[in-house]
Amino acid sequence: MSSDAIDFCLPDASWNRRVRRSLLTWFRRNARDLPWRRNRDPYRIWISEVMLQQTQVETVKPYFNRFVKRFPRVEVLANADEQEVLRHWEGLGYYRRARQLHRAAKMICDEYGGQFPRDPDEVRALPGIGRYTAGAILSIAFDAREPIVEGNTLRLYSRLLAYRDDPRATSGQRVLWSFAESVLPRQQTGEFNQALMELGSLVCTPRSPQCDECPVKSLCPTYGHGWQDQIPTAAKKIVYEDVNEVAVVVRKKNAVLLRRCGEGERWAGLWDFPRFRSEDPTQSPPELEERVQQLTGVRVEDAQWVTEIKHAVTRYRITLSCFEAHYQSGRKRSGEECAWVTVDQLSDYPLSVTGRRIGRLVAAGAFGKSAAL
Ligand code: SF4
Repeated sequence: MSSDAIDFCLPDASWNRRVRRSLLTWFRRNARDLPWRRNRDPYRIWISEVMLQQTQVETVKPYFNRFVKRFPRVEVLANADEQEVLRHWEGLGYYRRARQLHRAAKMICDEYGGQFPRDPDEVRALPGIGRYTAGAILSIAFDAREPIVEGNTLRLYSRLLAYRDDPRATSGQRVLWSFAESVLPRQQTGEFNQALMELGSLVCTPRSPQCDECPVKSLCPTYGHGWQDQIPTAAKKIVYEDVNEVAVVVRKKNAVLLRRCGEGERWAGLWDFPRFRSEDPTQSPPELEERVQQLTGVRVEDAQWVTEIKHAVTRYRITLSCFEAHYQSGRKRSGEECAWVTVDQLSDYPLSVTGRRIGRLVAAGAFGKSAAL
């Protein structure tokens, strides 16, 4: 073991060489055939990496295929309407990623002539790209010697180092990034980084890692000591907050009212039925008419409770009470902010997850006379 500037002994050069050899051999035999691995186009790798932030591989696959079919090149994405980009992202969650991707595509076209930049600082300056994503794109597309640390490799590195402190803390992150840099070969960096992520994802799993199948088990101190259940240390538990909200389907003849969520709101850029927090959502909340007017400019009457949807977003456990109300008077806000749409037109709008569920209920007749829409 040799010491580094960090307060932790990293493995020596001979250990690193053996890990590289074993891992690359294993990866060539075991790599999954994933749609974004079929070539080294930085655009496709970038899209996949952004989609894979917070989302599982199997969920991402169909979204990725649809997205690159509609937006096959960075110029196509840059020139697309944001609403259409969001519509292709709908269901993946964390919509900020899609909006940042769209903004970054415009920057790549405006500032780099449509060529993905190769300088790590320039890549990290693009919206939505942090150190990990930049390292992944640059190493996989261009074989740049850029390290990576993400969820799977955080666990794998912690175990390969028998790192017993919190790997998510600042000092832990310093140790893991230093290790990621020191273990990286000079060439085939993209293949090696993918091998690390693949091993973390398929073999060195959070619970019951498949150590018997692991190509580096003879080099792994965690396996040697039987500490797999203790490393890495558990992440802090999320403290959930229960929240009551109200959504209102406002009807006017054969249309319902949608509102576009503004900057800083949970689903910024997406459309939704008028929605707000409420202390007493089980009865027709006294503030319903006033809140709908504040949000849309429209006065409503005859509000009736229809159904309840329970869902979770980040740390919030939300009970959403859904009401139906009828247009009484007033002009809706501009077309940028609010729109009257028929059920058929709902599919053209990128909706929040619950907005889409309510839209389906409206189409199925669960809300009043929707069959007539
Ligand atoms: S031997 Fe087990 S704990 Fe060690 S890296 Fe392999 S799978 Fe992970």
